[in-house]
Amino acid sequence: MSSEELFNEAQRLLPGGVSSPVRAIKPYPFYVKSAQGSRIVDIDGNEYIDYCMGYGPLILGHAHPAIKMAVIGQLDKGWLYGTPIEQEVALAKEIARYYKSIEMVRFVNTGTEATMSAIRIARGFTERNKIIKIEGGFHGAHDAVLVKAGSGAATMGMPSSLGVPPEFTKHTLQAPFNNIGALSQVIDKFKEDVAAIIMEPVMGNVGPILPEDGYLQEVRALTKERDILLIFDEVITGFRLTVGGAQEYYNVTPDITTLGKILGGGLPIGAVGGRREIMEYVSPAGKVYQAGTFNGNPVSLTAGLATIEVLRSENVHEKLNDAGDSLRTQLRDLVTDKGLDYAVAGIGSMFKIFFGGEVRNYQGALKCDKDGYEQFFHRMHKDGVFLPPSQFETNFLSYAHTQEDIKRTIDAYEVNLS
Ligand SMILES: *Cc1c(COP(=O)(O)O)cnc(C)c1O
Repeated sequence: MSSEELFNEAQRLLPGGVSSPVRAIKPYPFYVKSAQGSRIVDIDGNEYIDYCMGYGPLILGHAHPAIKMAVIGQLDKGWLYGTPIEQEVALAKEIARYYKSIEMVRFVNTGTEATMSAIRIARGFTERNKIIKIEGGFHGAHDAVLVKAGSGAATMGMPSSLGVPPEFTKHTLQAPFNNIGALSQVIDKFKEDVAAIIMEPVMGNVGPILPEDGYLQEVRALTKERDILLIFDEVITGFRLTVGGAQEYYNVTPDITTLGKILGGGLPIGAVGGRREIMEYVSPAGKVYQAGTFNGNPVSLTAGLATIEVLRSENVHEKLNDAGDSLRTQLRDLVTDKGLDYAVAGIGSMFKIFFGGEVRNYQGALKCDKDGYEQFFHRMHKDGVFLPPSQFETNFLSYAHTQEDIKRTIDAYEVNLS
């Protein structure tokens, strides 16, 4: 069967024909036959250089041999026990080693569960209800964070999905990124009832948006001063900017950290961690309930440990981040040569061209020409480069991308960018 035929059938069986919304590429998504390194091959016989990389987890590229061998080794011994294993202690140790903010950690299965738990822990620890999230920040698909961008600061969150009662999101407040004044106003308005602020230290789900100089430090200082917990959602940035994530890169230590994506080496995982006094609230040590059949899944833990080992032993970040810098420089030159007023954004191995000017927050991202971007996506796709299909998703460079891949990619941008 072809991708088109499969998608026709899928539309009768799966809502929108897919298992997660961003995959519903028009007119139909390509169905994958296999993937290796930087390349992904569809069942219609096309090969693409992949910059989607599973939406972030595959920092070493597809089917990395060290991860594959580790997973096979674990499969030989079984894959689910319902009882602890050595790897959860080992991976917790690695996390604590690289993340100053984390003394104890709970392993879950997705980033969604990690942020859901982080918010519950923050509320349990502070005995307060409200949380503040950054407009356009994405923290998974659970009720408390599915909130529309408000028109101004200090507005109560309205659900952005059917099926979420407004009562569930009235405790979710919002503030724009890179604006400490607006954040401070929201805190002032709801002072005694704010448990935590949850934020991506580098926004990754509206395209990459970097914190301006000093912003994260100001957020840290403000939350400390007002006695509010700071949650860094490092599901994308964790193990990506450096092994120690954005908090190491920017040298800002949050109270609670959520991890996922790269942490599982491409297998499902999530983790929430923080200081001992906070994490001891989590069941069974404390009274914030959290549990899961697949928590601490042996295969995911093993893949995560193998990934960290490669990141460390091959000094991956140094090379990968240099490659990212070089790629962004080439893209900037291209944009300048073509006389386009587009912004090349990103950091480390995260990159994106915003079809609009420089972007410093969600409202800015919304001004980009997203239809123009979508058409560009299709042209790149035809030319054998698979970018995430939306203006608001970040492109990811992996350790498996070669100089030759990057050259071919720049050539494709040259031809298709307009
Ligand atoms: C992907 C993502 C999540 C959700 O993780 P899932 O594993 O998809 O549930 C949460 N936060 C951020 C910042 C993410 O990028």
